[in-house]
Amino acid sequence: MTEKKVSPQAKRTLIVQTPKKIDEEVDLFGWVDAKRDHGKITFVDLRDRTGKVQCVGYQQLSEVTPESVLWIHGKVKKRPEKLINADLATGTIEIEVLDYQILNRSRELPIPIAGNGYEINEEMRLKYRYLDLRRARLQKNLHLRSRLAQAIRTELFARDFVEIETPMLTKSTKEGSRDFIVPSRLNPGKFYALPQSPQQYKQLLMTAGFERYFQLARCIRDEDLRADRGFEHTQVDLEMSFVDQSMVMETVESMVKAAIQQVGGQLKDEKFPIITYQQALKRFGADKFDLRSAADKAAGKLAFAWVIDFPFFKKVDENDEAEVRDGKSGWTFTHNPFSQPQEQFLADHLAGEQIEQILTAQYDLVCNGYEVGGGSIRAHQPEVLRATFKIMGYSDEEIEASVGHMLRAFAVGTPPHGGIALGLDRLVMLLAGETSLKEVIAFPMTSSGKTSVMDAPAALPPAQLAELSLKTLAKANMQHDSQRVTEQKKKK
Ligand code: ASP
Repeated sequence: MTEKKVSPQAKRTLIVQTPKKIDEEVDLFGWVDAKRDHGKITFVDLRDRTGKVQCVGYQQLSEVTPESVLWIHGKVKKRPEKLINADLATGTIEIEVLDYQILNRSRELPIPIAGNGYEINEEMRLKYRYLDLRRARLQKNLHLRSRLAQAIRTELFARDFVEIETPMLTKSTKEGSRDFIVPSRLNPGKFYALPQSPQQYKQLLMTAGFERYFQLARCIRDEDLRADRGFEHTQVDLEMSFVDQSMVMETVESMVKAAIQQVGGQLKDEKFPIITYQQALKRFGADKFDLRSAADKAAGKLAFAWVIDFPFFKKVDENDEAEVRDGKSGWTFTHNPFSQPQEQFLADHLAGEQIEQILTAQYDLVCNGYEVGGGSIRAHQPEVLRATFKIMGYSDEEIEASVGHMLRAFAVGTPPHGGIALGLDRLVMLLAGETSLKEVIAFPMTSSGKTSVMDAPAALPPAQLAELSLKTLAKANMQHDSQRVTEQKKKK
């Protein structure tokens, strides 16, 4: 191709604006969505973030490949009546190409990006996720996610919440999963944990007097993988001071309703039904359930409900290492060790009696058969938190080591408080009518825990392990080591 003007400085017209620019010359930038070669004439459908438009090249464009990035300088032409394409927002016009430049030529794509992509092998979709994300369905899902996040922020700011970030490198906080551990180079043999949730920090923000906190928080849990989820998820995490259970539930319900409606979601119930844990077990055999009728399902409605009155403790599942670690006495928490027992069970709680009967001030939010949130009123008196850990069989030294900092904070003016965490990924999944969380996360993990696009987890060079004072017994890394040694030898 002959030398063209360098284009990125050209004043850009977005594709959505083209129908209003009849007979004007415009500069368009985008991707080749489709190409149809008819000898002397080549049609290219150019796509940018705002839409698609047909471009016509006379003796031009036949060299371009699908998904290449182009700059096109052209004239907007009104289409004759009989050539109008009613399916396309720009269907009343087309662009007569006067000049163009290929800014990036695309080779043949490893996966197709037209269509919904469900049928394509997961490994391939995630290896080439940046292409997979170009498909219209995923573009729509991620835009929906962004709009929902914005709506939630708007609703929370309107209710006087403050957005505050909490650390990613921290100490283990108990959410009932295993921690992801990060070695500390400067403290050989010592480790940080990645947060399973911001639970303790958000409570400390209540001690600090913020009264209403929220964060779209990344939570990292080393859980057994399920087909639709990886080790990371995003929570709408919030905490409020001077509240009781019904106040938190009302605030959350009104915020969720408003945010969902802002993004076009439809609710089954104006007021979310409240069901006790025992009733749920009786009616549905589980603490998550689907209240939609067939008609609700067809209409894409969201059926939210609250579940309350959960037992505080349960017997440890001997097959679950995290539970065995937490529940030294054979008892462990069902939801959250930082919760407050319900008032009428407080005396038993403090005395460590009738443990199986103690109910916690915990509330879960379910929607369409999924748990989409959970929270509680928290212990804010040191003796209550201490009693919880005593029931789980912790010695005074062990209590000090794991939650001593919380007990100290509770001794310097911590207000009564409670909060919740809502699963953002799940909410978006339900709103989008998807059945897998991966369809609403930009770069999810494969079902076997491999990252999208980049190949992690990966082995480390021996020097890097040594710097961290680590030695590994795992085969994978040793192979990596010997491979590197051979490669280095070859280089020499
Ligand atoms: N921290 C809890 C969780 O992540 C939720 C909460 O009680 O706020 O499940």
